[in-house]
Amino acid sequence: MNVNHSNNTITETACKVTDEICLPDSNLPRVVIIGGGFAGLAMVEKLKHKEVQVVLFDKNNFHQFQPLFYQVATSALEPDSIVFPFRKQINGYKNVLFRLAEVEEIQPSSNSLITSKGNVNYDYLILATGTNTNFFGMDSVESHSLGMKDIRDSLNIRHMMLQNLEQAAITCDEKERDALTNFVIVGGGPAGVEMAGALAEFCKYILPKDYPEYPSSIMNIYLIEAVDELLSTMSEKASSKTLKYLKDLNVKVLLNEAVSNYDGNEVTTKSGKTILAKNLIWTAGVKGQFPNGIDEEHIVRGNRIKTDANLKVEGYENIFAIGDIAALISKDTPKGHPQVAQTAIQQGKYLGDSILNIINNKAIKPFEYKDKGSLATVGKRKAVADLGKFKFSGYFAWLLWSIVHLMSISGFRNKLMVGFNWVVSYFSYEKSNRLIIRNFKPTSSQTKESGQYES
Ligand SMILES: Cc1cc2nc3c(=O)[nH]c(=O)nc-3n(C[C@H](O)[C@H](O)[C@H](O)COP(=O)(O)OP(=O)(O)OC[C@H]3O[C@@H](n4cnc5c(N)ncnc54)[C@H](O)[C@@H]3O)c2cc1C
Repeated sequence: MNVNHSNNTITETACKVTDEICLPDSNLPRVVIIGGGFAGLAMVEKLKHKEVQVVLFDKNNFHQFQPLFYQVATSALEPDSIVFPFRKQINGYKNVLFRLAEVEEIQPSSNSLITSKGNVNYDYLILATGTNTNFFGMDSVESHSLGMKDIRDSLNIRHMMLQNLEQAAITCDEKERDALTNFVIVGGGPAGVEMAGALAEFCKYILPKDYPEYPSSIMNIYLIEAVDELLSTMSEKASSKTLKYLKDLNVKVLLNEAVSNYDGNEVTTKSGKTILAKNLIWTAGVKGQFPNGIDEEHIVRGNRIKTDANLKVEGYENIFAIGDIAALISKDTPKGHPQVAQTAIQQGKYLGDSILNIINNKAIKPFEYKDKGSLATVGKRKAVADLGKFKFSGYFAWLLWSIVHLMSISGFRNKLMVGFNWVVSYFSYEKSNRLIIRNFKPTSSQTKESGQYES
């Protein structure tokens, strides 16, 4: 390749012949980060303006704020207010480069990567690739339901929902109408609970305005959870309050129930219950996703990668894992750290500092997780909070949830858009425009990134 870079600008000098992906020639150690989620971006922030060349790879050109996916799915927010372009994020960071490519394989013996766009070498490799939806091998469910692990999933859910509500107004078949207006959410963790609460509020406040021909009882929302409580990682107080909030919003909560089959029209549970529903949203599990090349022996439960106390992948000298993908197994954390944004951010920051210390031959301390507490919201003015000894719910928990989420969203413009939308909806119960822009086809393999829309 003839086009080359120096100091991150394109010049006449040659690219390293070992790299097929054009990168500036540099004498600095090259740190390649795969994945610009919470973990990858926190690490970029630590390494900006430092004596390293940072190359961030992501298969999207934007960071996604996953905790608010459900608000895009229920038309409360537009997608561009919760995603943020990497190039804007790294604007002005002279030592940081972004390359849009999916990393397909790691070749540790040659310190190189194979990506969808070409190969590249690294001195230090950071895996921050997160997770995708885990259907636990249930092909029928995977084929007909929608997960919520990508902004495209949220848009699919939104279109599925709006199209099915429109179709319900067209059909004269009562059974068909029931199926079109029944929603089943699987998984009673924060994502499932928040989605159920938002749908219930849609049913209470939006349905009567947009679809005056329907009684609000037409839309049934079911939340199915396999264990005997919701939000099982939070306190008992938070779990029981959440159950009450959802029941008050007419959500039908089924505990100790697991889905065993779904044909796109009827959900079957392990205990033999059946629910007619053309809308199934799956939030019941995630599994690690990462490129090929890591030895099987270092992969543990949930398809996570086992690391030592310094987040180094066991068996490798210069490969590290952070965020949802990493499993730091210890006496205190036999299942690894919780797969939440705080873990990812803290690990990204820690590893940014550690890598600089390793490069400078300085000692490094083991990673220590500081639990800052948990929050979940169930609807307007309703949330639960576990902050150490302080466990509370209601308006102040909701206010805290709103502030924490608003502060965490990347980009000033995005914060402004989300804040503005929330204020409008606080006073008016109005959501953003509910437009069916593309025709979502509820056929098989709905979770695939392509092919869900007719063009
Ligand atoms: C619906 C939902 C709600 C949530 N709510 C909360 C909440 O309220 N509070 C909370 O703390 N946590 C919440 N979480 C969890 C939180 O979002 C995750 O813990 C966090 O995103 C993990 O960060 P990460 O950086 O490890 O991975 P991610 O944020 O998933 O980022 C991984 C990145 O890697 C990229 N990538 C993956 N594979 C490749 C590849 N091969 N090549 C190139 N790029 C690749 C992806 O495009 C992505 O940008 C929620 C998650 C979901 C799905």
